[in-house]
Amino acid sequence: MSTFDLDSLLAPELAALSSYLPDLRSYPIRLDANEAPPLLGKDVLARLVQAAGQVTWERYPDPTARELRGAIASRLGVTADEIVVGAGSDEIIALLLTALSRPRGQGGQATVLTTSPTFVMYRQHARVRGQRVVEVPLDEEWDLPGVALDQAIEATAPNVIFVASPNNPTGVLADPARLEHLIQRSSGALVVIDEAYVDYACRDQLHLYRRHPNVAVMRTLSKVGFASLRVGYVLARPELAAALDKARSPYNLPAASQRLATMVLAELGVEVATTVRTVVAERERMARGLGELGVQFPASEANFLWIRTPAPADQVHAELGKRGILVRSFFAQGGRLAQQLRVTVGTAAENDRFLEAMREILGASK
Ligand code: PMP
Repeated sequence: MSTFDLDSLLAPELAALSSYLPDLRSYPIRLDANEAPPLLGKDVLARLVQAAGQVTWERYPDPTARELRGAIASRLGVTADEIVVGAGSDEIIALLLTALSRPRGQGGQATVLTTSPTFVMYRQHARVRGQRVVEVPLDEEWDLPGVALDQAIEATAPNVIFVASPNNPTGVLADPARLEHLIQRSSGALVVIDEAYVDYACRDQLHLYRRHPNVAVMRTLSKVGFASLRVGYVLARPELAAALDKARSPYNLPAASQRLATMVLAELGVEVATTVRTVVAERERMARGLGELGVQFPASEANFLWIRTPAPADQVHAELGKRGILVRSFFAQGGRLAQQLRVTVGTAAENDRFLEAMREILGASK
């Protein structure tokens, strides 16, 4: 009888990886995942339920997501053959890395270049695929490190460069001159500008897509109130979009998500804008409150704040947890990240509770 040895079959890279798992315990106030607060009115919720009711449940969804891609394209002023949709931008990242995986540069491996800290799924999806990951630390201001990126590009000849702008977890929008320089110096790599948080920023970076053939832009509905739909997309030249489409599962986006996301884009612009305005106003209120407590943070262009507390971050995190408030910690990663916390902007009441808790915690630690 032959023996079955799972380890002899698994991709060796998996041994060193762990699953992406948020803190699953229940907290009355969750400010850890950069979701938008629930701000939609009852009438809008009723319209969404009604739209979901129009789905043909026994049929597969439209494999081309024609309606949704059309809605995205008309919003961006591009054609639908420049849009690929995925189950969140997470799936888009996976598609990009699957498609752009030709061995290149050192070691006969495809290489993914990004900054550190940034969104973890660039690294995770690359490593699962056996690709080399090169992470260049952000500068002192948490912005793109110009020279270090130039050097890394030259040394590694990457296939794909991911730049989240605004970045997660820092909330910083990349310096425009440095970003454009990176695109010009990318030595044949595709530069993916991840605009997951762009609705909360003072400007977008679509002009870079128009100007440079080696740029693609990713966006998502997750951060503006529709994380449950899992709808992300990429704006890419038609040749790249067609290549990604070959790597995509045919029915990757559920019919309900397609229908509701189309409605969000085509009909709920005002409601989404209201959510964004409310969150931005709350972000500024939180920034003022935290500033008064001596907490430091770079100006945020996203729906969260990247804070450095006067007391040790692990203690602050634990004390917030005791008060039922979950924020994101980074102390496991050590170095300059150990002192940082990432706090998502919640409802006004949640933000009040958070500020009150911070006042207690930091007051007590003096
Ligand atoms: N990009 C960035 C920068 C993010 O922070 C996130 C979510 N945390 C994503 C992409 C993934 O978003 P989605 O929900 O669309 O998969």
